[in-house]
Amino acid sequence: MSLKGKTAVITGSNSGIGLGVAREMAKAGADVVINSFTDTDDDHALAAEIGKESGVTARYIQADMSKADQCRALIEKAGACDILINNAGIQHVAPIDQFPTEKWDAIIAINLSSAFHTTAAALPMMRKAGWGRVVNIASAHGLTASPYKSAYIAAKHGVVGLTKTTALETAEEPITANAICPGYVLTPLVEAQIPDTMKEYDMSREDVIKNVMLKRQPSKEFATVEQMGGTAVFLCSDAAAQITGTTISVDGGWTAL
Ligand code: NAD
Repeated sequence: MSLKGKTAVITGSNSGIGLGVAREMAKAGADVVINSFTDTDDDHALAAEIGKESGVTARYIQADMSKADQCRALIEKAGACDILINNAGIQHVAPIDQFPTEKWDAIIAINLSSAFHTTAAALPMMRKAGWGRVVNIASAHGLTASPYKSAYIAAKHGVVGLTKTTALETAEEPITANAICPGYVLTPLVEAQIPDTMKEYDMSREDVIKNVMLKRQPSKEFATVEQMGGTAVFLCSDAAAQITGTTISVDGGWTAL
């Protein structure tokens, strides 16, 4: 599968799943734009490293996905956007009656509204180019719920709805829109939680992973960022040209329960 000549913009991609997806897109030959709200030497060095390792053009563009104008500016600054991966996301855990309003607003803005703004800015470019792929990184929590994650779950269900609408509005064009629904993925953020959870439950690393973190993931294995990237690359392939408006679960069986 070659994505040579295509430009992929991946929101929230200086770590975790977004970075993994950016690397797989670049390996498949796409030029990539990586993004976060920061603007450090490390951010730009990361883009340079990805470009060098895959022989593609890789740029870092700073934009805060909690702000509508910066979401749209990201796409405009990219100059081209054949593949849009909406990945930026944050989490906050609290019961509904204690959930801080500013956390609710930030999660809805970053996890849901940003995908609306980037999609709105990218579709005219895709139409002009005569080809486009929108891949939204939703979650198993876009299809099912858990307590204490009201904003995240509302946002991720919203992302699935936005994906379906995007697909219907582009159905007669060579553009598709789909959502990937990951289960628990081993990102640096998740890895960092393991030592504290081991202490909290007085458990071994293996028990924490299997019996606490992966309690709802029947495979008892984390999904990987490479698998998310590989799934995104597949959704950009010719084989996936008629796959639109759907969700692909990469969750070790979570949503089959
Ligand atoms: P992460 O914290 O490693 O990555 C989040 C990325 O979003 C980072 O690059 C961060 O800089 C960026 N970001 C945060 N706020 C931003 C803002 N205001 N503007 C621009 N960028 C911003 O987390 P991750 O686990 O890689 O999560 C990536 C996506 O995958 C999220 O949408 C998350 O909900 C989803 N997801 C993750 C898991 C998991 O188990 N890790 C499971 C299901 C879904």
